[in-house]
Amino acid sequence: MELRLFNTLTKEKEPFAPLDPARVRMYVCGPTVYDFAHIGNARPVIVFDVLYRLLRHLYGEGKVKYVRNITDVDDKINARAAEEYPKLPLNEAIRLVTEKTEKQFHEDVDALGCLRPDVEPRATEHIGEMRDLIERLVKSGFAYVEQEHVLFEVGKMSDYGKLARRSLDEMEAGARVEVAPYKRNPMDFVLWKPSKPNEPGWPSPSGIKTPGRPGWHIECSAMSWKHLGETFDIHGGGIDLVFPHHENEIAQSRCSFHTPIMAKTWMHNGFLQVEGEKMSKSLGNFVTIRELLTDWKGRGWPGSVVRLAMLKTHYRQPLDWTTDRLVESDVQMGVLKNTVRIANPDRGAIIPEVVAALADDLNSHLALSALMKRGNDSNDVAKTGLWLGLFKEEDFKIGRDHAAGIKTAVQEALEKVASDLVDARNAARANKDWKESDRIRDELKAMGVVIKDNKDGTTTWEIAR
Ligand code: AMP
Ligand code: ZN
Repeated sequence: MELRLFNTLTKEKEPFAPLDPARVRMYVCGPTVYDFAHIGNARPVIVFDVLYRLLRHLYGEGKVKYVRNITDVDDKINARAAEEYPKLPLNEAIRLVTEKTEKQFHEDVDALGCLRPDVEPRATEHIGEMRDLIERLVKSGFAYVEQEHVLFEVGKMSDYGKLARRSLDEMEAGARVEVAPYKRNPMDFVLWKPSKPNEPGWPSPSGIKTPGRPGWHIECSAMSWKHLGETFDIHGGGIDLVFPHHENEIAQSRCSFHTPIMAKTWMHNGFLQVEGEKMSKSLGNFVTIRELLTDWKGRGWPGSVVRLAMLKTHYRQPLDWTTDRLVESDVQMGVLKNTVRIANPDRGAIIPEVVAALADDLNSHLALSALMKRGNDSNDVAKTGLWLGLFKEEDFKIGRDHAAGIKTAVQEALEKVASDLVDARNAARANKDWKESDRIRDELKAMGVVIKDNKDGTTTWEIAR
C-alpha cells in the first residue's frame, strides 16, 4: 500500500519512502512543561500518534523510531517555578515544576490512547550537543558571537525561508522581530544567550566566559541529531511552528552538517479553536485535557471520545472544538463499544479500508467512517479500533474470556438465578399451579433464558446468546 503525505516543504502530497529503507525516523516538537496541556496541544500528540501507528503497521513495529522532546528550559518555566516555590532555590523549583508537569502530561495523553514515543529527550540533558552545533556554526561562518550572545546569521544561508516560503524582506516586514544591538540583521536569531544571575545557566560555547542558556530553536536540532541523525524522514508539529521555529531548526541543522535537507517530509497540523474562538485564558474558553477528562460542560468525557472527536477532522484543517462535536463522538463511541461488546480482537483483522484512508495523507475522517460502517465483522472492528487507539485491551476482557470458556461473575450470577427459577417452576408444576408456572416461564424468557420441557418430564434450559 502506498503511503502519501503532504509535505509543507513542497506544498504537495508526495509518495513517502524512508531515507533508510530499514528504519523510519520521525521527530515531533513536544510540550513545554510548566502547566497542564490544553486541548490544542493534544492535537499534534494524537495526530502524530496515528501516523506512528500507521508507520509501524506498514513498516513493522521495530522499524520505526519516534522521538518527541520535552522542553524543560524556557522563560515560562522559570516564571512558574519562582511563583509556585518562592522559597526554594530556582533550579530546585524548576525541577519540581517540570517533573510534575511531565507526569501530568503523560497521564493526560495516555488517557487519550496515545502510545509513548520511543524516546522523549529532555532539552536540559542535551546542552552538550547544542554547544557542539553552535561551535560548528560559528566555525563555518554561519553564526557569530556578539555581547555574549551567539546569533545565526540568516543572510549567510542562501535558501533561508524555504519552508515558510517567505523572502527575508517579507519576513522582516511581517514579523515582530526583536531589534537588538547585538544583531547584525534583525532577522538573525539567538542560538545562545547569557543567563541572568537568577536564571539557570550552563558553560557557554565559542569562548564566551559567562554562563548562558540556549535559544529556543537549537534544542530540537540537537535532540533530533542525537536520536535520529543528521537527516531523517518526518518532522512534525503544529502549523504555528513553521515560522520561525522549524525554519530555524532547518537553518541550524543543515548549516551544521552541510546537508541539503534536515527532514525529508515536514508535516503540520492545523489549529484548534474552542466554540468558534481562539482559545485564550482571558476569553474564558481555555480548556485543558485534564478538564475535558474530568469536568467540562458538566461532565467528564472519556479519553476515547476526545480522541474520536479530534480525528473527525482532517489534521490539516482548522478544527472547532465544541460540545456538539463531543456529544456526537460520545454517541458514536457508544455504538462502537456496543458492536464489540463480546468481540475478540485476536480473531479479527485490521480493516483494509481504514488503513487505505489513513495512507492517503492521514484521512482520519474517512478511516472512521470505514470503521463505523454497518456490516463490519465485530472482531475486525475490535482489532481495528484497538489498533487506532480507540479501544483499550481491557475493553475485550469479556470477549476473550468468553472465547476461552471463562465465565464472568455476571454470567455466573445469571445462571444461579435462572437455575433457582427453573426449580421454582418445577415445584409450581408439581402442584399443578399452571398460572405460577407460566409466570416464571415468562420471567425466564425476559431474562433471555430458554426452557424446554422434555417428554420424560425433566426441564432443560440455556441462556440464549
Ligand atoms: P507549545 O507547548 O505551545 O510549544 O505547543 C506544543 C504543540 O502544540 C506544538 O506542536 C504546537 O504547534 C501545538 N499547538 C499549540 N496550540 C495549538 C492549537 N490551538 N491547535 C493546534 N495545535 C496547537
Ligand atoms: Zn522543535
